[in-house]
Amino acid sequence: MKKIAIIMCNDMHMDIERSNVLLNYIVQNSNYEIVCDYTIADIVIIQTCAFGNGKRYSMQVIADVRVNANPNAKIIVTGCLLPISREELKVIPGIEVKSFDELILMFKKADIHLYQEIVPQNKVIISEGCLKRCSYCVYPLIVGKYTSKPMEDILSEVARLYETETNIYLTGAQETSDYGRDLYGEPSFAKLLQKICTQFPNCNYIIGWFHPAGLTEEMISVIAQNKNIIEIMLHIQHVDETILKNMNRPTMKFTDEKIQKLRKLRPDLAISTEVIVGFPGETQLEFQKLVKYLNRGYFTDIGVASYEQVLGTDASVMEKQVPEGIKKERLKFIQTKFNACIYPSNKDNFMMSVIEEYMKAYDLFCHLPKYILNNRQKYNCIAGIDTKAKTEELEEILKEVFEYIINSRSEFDFQKNKKILTEKYTTEARMLFYSMIERGNFKEGIKQRAKKLLLDDNQD
Ligand code: SF4
Repeated sequence: MKKIAIIMCNDMHMDIERSNVLLNYIVQNSNYEIVCDYTIADIVIIQTCAFGNGKRYSMQVIADVRVNANPNAKIIVTGCLLPISREELKVIPGIEVKSFDELILMFKKADIHLYQEIVPQNKVIISEGCLKRCSYCVYPLIVGKYTSKPMEDILSEVARLYETETNIYLTGAQETSDYGRDLYGEPSFAKLLQKICTQFPNCNYIIGWFHPAGLTEEMISVIAQNKNIIEIMLHIQHVDETILKNMNRPTMKFTDEKIQKLRKLRPDLAISTEVIVGFPGETQLEFQKLVKYLNRGYFTDIGVASYEQVLGTDASVMEKQVPEGIKKERLKFIQTKFNACIYPSNKDNFMMSVIEEYMKAYDLFCHLPKYILNNRQKYNCIAGIDTKAKTEELEEILKEVFEYIINSRSEFDFQKNKKILTEKYTTEARMLFYSMIERGNFKEGIKQRAKKLLLDDNQD
């Protein structure tokens, strides 16, 4: 059987969904075996990223694959870089450049409905594309027109996840607030959200990638009424009015007013945000304004990116570009002061994926004493991890533990998961899980949550 490896873009939701579609499709309709190790694959598919330094990273991946892949392997490059760098990619020897549709056709000439495939994660992608035109962002140029999924399709996806999930992440690839404009003639996210909360009440919802301009009174009222909407990812990017104007983003007066309203109506709501430092023209004074605003403590999680001059965007030709050294300092400052995660991650400061963390922990787990887990069956797999099946079983255990940590956002889930973890694993096992997380490159918030979840109260 021929082998195929897919190196996914782990940044943008759209491509994660497409990767899933592709994987499902290949598994169901072809004779290829999916492998993780691309060096043994007959076909290697690379999904590129064009966001921020994703381009540089994707180019490095292409170079690595060309060197290390099986010399007879077919290397196919697809993803977000194509619309902006197709010609550049085409001159790289030894690779084929194909769009997602061409790729599907390559495996079989068949019509695939993107949204009917199973997406094996607690995430529902409600739309694709972006109608906004932020001056620093290349996405509107890449993705093309905004396409919303019909409400019925979204409701059936939520229904399917509702059976097993406690938290469902509703997001757009890339932007959520304009949901429905193309299909229903007006922004309809609030209506969709209300339907979801009414039909599937016993589940928590997280709203992803929400542009502040979409915080209408209707939207705020739906969030206020439904306490199971536990988080909104509201990206403010900056607070200085001149910078926001140059970014082509809404005024801070508007955004701040809405945030305060949300905070008043729902003090328990998690509001996470992302900001950009070093946008052209950002002086120390403007940077300090941003810091001062973040200091107010409205946000539960902060992501920070250093402005990147991306070809084709309006901001790339603006005057007063900020020197790299200053951008780095400002990025570091926000990261340290607010425990912010750097977004998007880069190679020097790479936020480890859960899978990488598992593999790093593998050695540690090989040497665990036999009494580490309460469950004898599980303990066997720890005692001698010498087969693929046993390694996979171990990875499953770790994956489950990480999922409990990630999914313990609300007090209810936290208490429920703490009980499960305490019953399932010995104190020593939980301490080892925590030591892995403590050493890993996770956000401080995740580490704190893991500590509270995994360690006994008297060890907090
Ligand atoms: S809203 Fe987001 S995806 Fe859309 S243009 Fe702005 S930054 Fe880009």
